[in-house]
Amino acid sequence: MKIGVLGLQGGVYEHVYMLRKAFEEEGIHGEAVVVKKSSQLEGLDGIIIPGGESTTIGIVAKRIGLLDPLRDAVKEGLPAFGTCAGAIMLAERVTDRVVGEKKQPLIGIMNVEVVRNYFGRQRESFEIDLEIEGVDGLFRGVFIRAPAFTKAWGSARIISRINYNGETVGVVAVQGPHLATAFHPELTGDTRLHRMWLRSLKV
Ligand code: GLN
Repeated sequence: MKIGVLGLQGGVYEHVYMLRKAFEEEGIHGEAVVVKKSSQLEGLDGIIIPGGESTTIGIVAKRIGLLDPLRDAVKEGLPAFGTCAGAIMLAERVTDRVVGEKKQPLIGIMNVEVVRNYFGRQRESFEIDLEIEGVDGLFRGVFIRAPAFTKAWGSARIISRINYNGETVGVVAVQGPHLATAFHPELTGDTRLHRMWLRSLKV
């Protein structure tokens, strides 16, 4: 199995590390590669879009001619796992808590609406134990200027939620082979979500 990690900005090597750990724990003969150009999309069984800054990732990907091939590959069935900014990249609809509707380059494959910086300034970063469908026990969610899923339609499904300021919002979404988390599972050393995604890939 060969999994790419989009390597333009953000927590790239944390995901490479988590993938290698997850391969080992699952007994998968796997390879993790950092993807910086479209030719490296060839032969991948899945791609991780890391956290960082979604506008930067989108703008750089577009500038170097990687965004369209990446979007095409995902639309043609390449499974994607996006964390935080990566989840924003996968969403079809994006708004920003502060500036409202955002026009930014996206992959836009998942039937979800995401609000960037949902938790605002006061709670820029926090950690919370989450219940996630399909994951046994609690999962420590590390949220850093995190987004939240405010709507899901079509074949997207929210599989974890939290309550914030009287509202219930989604923090994990799935759609077929695609997985998106508002938080950073690559920062805790807990590979359960990486493993869940890898197991869902029919390779
Ligand atoms: N706030 C960032 C964005 O809007 C995401 C932050 C993160 O990935 N930790 O893209």
